[in-house]
Amino acid sequence: MAKIGFIGLGHMGGPMAENLVKAGHNLTVYDVTPVSLSGVVVAANLAELIQNVDYVVSMLPAGAHVREVYLGAEGLLAQAPKAITYIECSTIDVETAKAVHAAIAQKGGVCVDAPVSGGTASAAAGTLTFMVGGSDEAFAEVKPILEAMGKKIFHAGLAGCGQMAKICNNLLLGISMIGVCEAFNLGKALGLEPQAFFDICKEASGQCWSLTQYCPVPGILPHTPANKNYEPGFMAKMMLKDLNLAEDAAESAAAATPLGDKARDLYQAFCDAGGQDKDFSGIIEWLQRQ
Ligand code: NAD
Repeated sequence: MAKIGFIGLGHMGGPMAENLVKAGHNLTVYDVTPVSLSGVVVAANLAELIQNVDYVVSMLPAGAHVREVYLGAEGLLAQAPKAITYIECSTIDVETAKAVHAAIAQKGGVCVDAPVSGGTASAAAGTLTFMVGGSDEAFAEVKPILEAMGKKIFHAGLAGCGQMAKICNNLLLGISMIGVCEAFNLGKALGLEPQAFFDICKEASGQCWSLTQYCPVPGILPHTPANKNYEPGFMAKMMLKDLNLAEDAAESAAAATPLGDKARDLYQAFCDAGGQDKDFSGIIEWLQRQ
């Protein structure tokens, strides 16, 4: 079993680390906030974490955190005693992912960008989808570790391709969640029962993951944030971050994403109105008030 350092034990990283422990791996973990996870060694800082591990898995909020943790003066690469294999799972910009790949390669280490899709329920169940960017050899090496946390492990291409797939997926997710919210809000305003609409739509051509797995209306699916006053889940500010990443990527590639622009503006307005720490499906209530 592998000796793994895990960094970032938040909504996603906590349950992912738990599944690595369940699979029999030896974990040393680090987070800037106090960690409550049993069966692991808690490191006081990155220097301590990196001393005695063969792999690092990180699950951090955004690109700036990843740059600090990997490339900072007190970061992993400055303090690693040997070349190891890094599995960077956060959702971040392609540029940062490529910079981290390049810095690790320069030190003789192995790296994959491996962002996930699936949310906190999948993280807990070990059924995440991983989109992996890196060489064939790196993919083959990390796959068994990712299988302890996920059900579907895709090789998206070379360095940065995992992030490209993730950004495009979340562009679609943001748009589809708003679409599902609008459809329920319109149905309700017209006098249609939400449950009746759900039962029909999940079998009809409008069905999508935001409807069938993450329905934003309370009382329809048992384990969704909608049933817990939109407690995250996946915070609206994280969705806004991903839509901004998609817009930046679209601009750099000169690709037209007009619905992505609109979805970003709507999530920005929802966050500005106080929704930033709510689950991203909570935008349904804000849309209803417009
Ligand atoms: P989170 O904020 O709950 O967790 C991030 C953790 O990183 C926190 O515990 C934080 O204290 C820690 N952290 C921040 N800076 C650090 C540092 N310098 N050193 C060590 N630890 C640090 O976020 P999350 O919801 O777990 O999301 C993590 C990543 O996964 C994000 O990039 C997000 O976009 C992506 N993601 C989230 C979901 C979801 O449903 N929550 C789904 C797919 C992907």
